[in-house]
Amino acid sequence: MRIPFNSPHEAGNERRYVAEAFAGRHLSGDGPFTKRCHAWLRAHHGAPTLLTHSCTAALELCALLADLGPGDEVILPSFTFVSTANAFVLRGATPVFVDVEPQGLNLDASLIEAAVTPRTRAICVVHYAGVGAAMDDILAIAARHGLLVFEDAAQGLMASYRGRALGTFGALGAISFHETKNIGCGEGGALVLNDERLLARAEVLREKGTNRNAFFRGEVDKYTWVDVGSSFLPSDITAAVLLAQLEHAAEITARRRDRWARYHQAFTDAESRELLLRPVELPERTHNAHMYYLLARSLAHRTKILEATRARGIGCMFHYVPLHSSPAGRRLGRVGSAMAVTDSISERLFRLPLWPDLTDAMLEEIVEVVISEAERA
Ligand SMILES: *Cc1c(COP(=O)(O)O)cnc(C)c1O
Repeated sequence: MRIPFNSPHEAGNERRYVAEAFAGRHLSGDGPFTKRCHAWLRAHHGAPTLLTHSCTAALELCALLADLGPGDEVILPSFTFVSTANAFVLRGATPVFVDVEPQGLNLDASLIEAAVTPRTRAICVVHYAGVGAAMDDILAIAARHGLLVFEDAAQGLMASYRGRALGTFGALGAISFHETKNIGCGEGGALVLNDERLLARAEVLREKGTNRNAFFRGEVDKYTWVDVGSSFLPSDITAAVLLAQLEHAAEITARRRDRWARYHQAFTDAESRELLLRPVELPERTHNAHMYYLLARSLAHRTKILEATRARGIGCMFHYVPLHSSPAGRRLGRVGSAMAVTDSISERLFRLPLWPDLTDAMLEEIVEVVISEAERA
């Protein structure tokens, strides 16, 4: 692709910090760079936050910390990445899929209660495109039914709902630092522990079920196997790259928001001519410009636009194939509402290239190709 969908951004100190990690002779997990990332993330979230090797791993820790198992149900959107469902399926729990709101494309709170059964244990929201889900309504529903709330905030770092960072509303939040996210280190993630009672156990589960962290703090005189667990921590080389990115998170977000606003302005006229629909900016949900998407009129319309952009070397992408109708979703999950919005948007939505170094010239060319094909198709 001449203009790729995503291109990793170097904030400045990545290579220097990796060299420092080697010079310090500590490359495994929980080294000096991990500790600096933890300090940054704790300050940002106002809650302890542990690095993991992916958001997928952080979601798996949510399921483990909640002791979910066969017979338990977790309500989540169908319009999401497979990891949101897999984390619970791995524990034998059943994902119950609920439709999303037409604006914002997040879990539709008005449909959740009808999907609650005596087996429901948790709601896992997804903050699609770094736009907050309706957290006030969802937290109220969860409180009424005694449910845990998890946040798949994979796309949500540096975004907020009513002024509060995404990932800090539920008992646990999961963040991604995958290369395709706003702040990235190749593969990486974090678990936000808003319920601090879960911290001690999270440290154990993340370290193969051992009390190694307590040992290093001098709280026990040897470390041993104390609980279930796995290896969820990233190497300090990964953390070195991540720290360099976190230190410039505000700048990266501002640059992405500038690119996002330029797209949004450029498609105003196409929307009023009913060629395409733009995302709706919702009050009190400050997004992080993770993604700029448009809705075509139909699947055929989108297919033509994607073909035209690809022919010009422009990396536009569709997004999620709904989980509720996927082969695994049908076998392992259950539908908890009608799926009209999910089915419609998954056929019509496409995403445009968006990264901090995307130039004005590239952006203008993308807009031009998309609009002219949307007119023709
Ligand atoms: C990217 C993403 C994930 C997975 O993140 P990894 O860090 O790659 O495991 C999970 N959920 C959503 C909504 C995502 O966008």
